[in-house]
Amino acid sequence: MPEKTKAIFLDRDGVLNKEMGDYVCSIDDFHILDNFKALKTLQDKGYLLIVATNQGGLAKGWYTKAEMGKMHTQLKAAYKEHGVEFTDIYYCPHHPDYTGPCDCRKPKPGLLLQGIEKYNIDPAQSYFIGDRDRDVIAGTAAGVKGILIKSDQPISTILDLIA
Ligand SMILES: [Zn+2]
Repeated sequence: MPEKTKAIFLDRDGVLNKEMGDYVCSIDDFHILDNFKALKTLQDKGYLLIVATNQGGLAKGWYTKAEMGKMHTQLKAAYKEHGVEFTDIYYCPHHPDYTGPCDCRKPKPGLLLQGIEKYNIDPAQSYFIGDRDRDVIAGTAAGVKGILIKSDQPISTILDLIA
């Protein structure tokens, strides 16, 4: 059995890019926040960085997977310039009013559980940084420590909460 890894799970909107209301529908509204140094610090401590985001706007048809893909390409490229790599980006494309219930929309822990299984992550050594209660609830349900920040609050301000 290979040794388990540890991870920082990150919500997207309001944590990695500016909160813009309900959904970020266009690449023009995708404004990456400067958490470069903070995430480099966490990566250097041995944490995988994994995004977990609800994207119910996909179910509503407010934007396409292609448009969202552009955002994620831009996000990865911006961080790569600072030596930071996102191991994976998990998203829930569902919305209960449009596609019915699912196991991945936060506060359900499905997105985190996918990452935990795929990358052999030890939840007890891992964290979920999010700007909504549902992020903390999803984290707790997956066995990781949830850290609630304000929307667009720099991650550098909560680094001392992470071992
Ligand atoms: Zn889902």
